[in-house]
Amino acid sequence: MMLEKIIALSRKSSPWVAHFNSGGCNACDIEVMATLTPRFDVERFGIQLKGSPRHADILICTGPVTAQIRERLLRVYHQMPAPKYIVAVGSCALSGGVFHDCYNVLGGVDRVLPVDVYVPGCPPRPDAIIAGIVKVLQKMESDALELADYRQASAAGGGTTHVHLQ
Ligand code: SF4
Repeated sequence: MMLEKIIALSRKSSPWVAHFNSGGCNACDIEVMATLTPRFDVERFGIQLKGSPRHADILICTGPVTAQIRERLLRVYHQMPAPKYIVAVGSCALSGGVFHDCYNVLGGVDRVLPVDVYVPGCPPRPDAIIAGIVKVLQKMESDALELADYRQASAAGGGTTHVHLQ
């Protein structure tokens, strides 16, 4: 299954990201946009911002999840091809933050989606956001290699291996 391992490593080298604000104050969004500028050179990791979730491997979520936005956030998530990863950026995306007890706020992003990496801060600096995305890249590689090993073991009629698939 050398080919699958090559695909896994290629995927890790060109992660495309989409960005979604589910109800925050926009300061986190400004930091996400700053992160994606040439100043921080995230293209050295192959990271590119995409306008459509259908082309994205990673969804960067900012803000708390409001009752009104919940369905749209779920729709965006389901439009992404698997395997897909979620990064929650900012205190609001982690827990609801300063909006946590508002009547229309459900809480952090993990109330709706399976978050892979949490980046705390209000707002977090671009370096913290980059560190979070790099953690996702490590997870992306280990998941893909685990899946390739599982398929290899299955093809060889090996024993049971448990693999987490999204
Ligand atoms: S974490 Fe802070 S900066 Fe980010 S959306 Fe919430 S209040 Fe705004």
